[in-house]
Amino acid sequence: MREKSERTGEVRCLACFERFRVPKGEEKMACPNCGGEWYISWSGPLAKIRKPVWESWERREALEQQEGR
Ligand SMILES: [Zn+2]
Repeated sequence: MREKSERTGEVRCLACFERFRVPKGEEKMACPNCGGEWYISWSGPLAKIRKPVWESWERREALEQQEGR
């Protein structure tokens, strides 16, 4: 089985290294695996992770500190 244009809009999470698909034109996307949120940049049909959405990560850390321990 071959995925051809299926790779379009696919990125690899920089936190958990899982690949996931980004709907075309989406500028922000949370990884379905670890829930980390990323800003997405597009060059033509190709999606790339630009940087983390820090607010989202800080919120996650705060939550984890409350719950875990
Ligand atoms: Zn992830």
